[in-house]
Amino acid sequence: MKSMNNGDVLYLDHAASSPLRPQAREAMAPYRDGDYGNPSGSHSVSRRAKNALEEAREQIAALLGARPLEIVFTGGGTESDNLAVKGAAFAGGLRRRVIVTPVEHEAVLAAARFCRDRGCPLTLAEADADGRVDPARFASYATAAGDPVVASVMAANNETGVKQPVAETAAAVREADPRAVVHTDAVQGFVSQSMNVGELGVDMLTLSAHKFGGPQGTGILYVRDGVPLEPLLHGGGQELGRRSGTHNVAGAAGMAAAMQAAEDERDDFRARASRERDGFERVLTSLLPEAAVTGAGAPRTVQISHVRIPGVRNETLLARLDRAGVAASAASACQSGAATASHVLRAMGFDDAAARECLRFSFGWSTRPGEGREAARRVAEQAEALR
Ligand code: PLP
Repeated sequence: MKSMNNGDVLYLDHAASSPLRPQAREAMAPYRDGDYGNPSGSHSVSRRAKNALEEAREQIAALLGARPLEIVFTGGGTESDNLAVKGAAFAGGLRRRVIVTPVEHEAVLAAARFCRDRGCPLTLAEADADGRVDPARFASYATAAGDPVVASVMAANNETGVKQPVAETAAAVREADPRAVVHTDAVQGFVSQSMNVGELGVDMLTLSAHKFGGPQGTGILYVRDGVPLEPLLHGGGQELGRRSGTHNVAGAAGMAAAMQAAEDERDDFRARASRERDGFERVLTSLLPEAAVTGAGAPRTVQISHVRIPGVRNETLLARLDRAGVAASAASACQSGAATASHVLRAMGFDDAAARECLRFSFGWSTRPGEGREAARRVAEQAEALR
């Protein structure tokens, strides 16, 4: 476990990236080390790669309740989000209205702004103090718009872990506009929450392998059969023309294996992650009673804890924690020494000063029992030292 957990470092940054699961490593090995064929070729070497790619596609589709042809392999969550938003907004020569929550990942928000700058109307729906949208209110923008719509609502927020009512929002949007295309960014959701595209009622869904123990730089976009999509990448016409470029066969095999492992271990993972996260929050708030857990009363994904420690600058605390063997993160963007609140925290009503006191701790498949409580003790000790 040494390399997996970086020695004695308490790695609590799984929302940034999780280590590769052994199942993924094993599934990738033949294609990384030996079977070099291009799956688009027609000889036996290519066929082995093609078979591996299609097996991975079938496995991923089955895990999402989708059909294999509805799975588009991409280079990760950022690409999938861009393909979903831009691809749907401009499909069929249209300029669809883009409706998004204000707490989406930058990959969705920046893609939405790109569309706006090229003629697509953009609506940022409101979020409440926990960062959640109200499905009826969100859908009212689709009704009011009258023009064709692409809507995006994430499964779980990458900073706070707060979950959105995706199925309810998708249903409300569809009722408001039966032609609407609905996307969900499920990048932070899949590890602890099973995803079935039929039950969610979405047309598109983004996943990124490295958030659940698959390889970095690999993802998928589920695109419901019949949903029109303008590709981002033009070229050889791979992925039924939706994403040109030679496939990352090892990546696809690794992603499918990691997804299967996440699905098989999910109940156990949920129990373990919530034990660690709850233990972390209990110990932290007992040692530092002024520490506040963000979204504590809202539905949250079990593996993320976002806390504010008043009076302590997050960047300074993070540097101390790094030296004390705790790897965590802060989501404030630091430009020329002046950190500004992340758009997520701003949408939730945090000002810049409060946002500078926030940290994210995230747990994953390789987190060991007791790490949450031990991390909380180290956080409290380092925060005390800073006062
Ligand atoms: N969407 C969410 C919610 C994320 O948390 C991330 C990564 O942090 C992404 C998209 C981007 O994924 P990737 O790192 O695979 O580009």
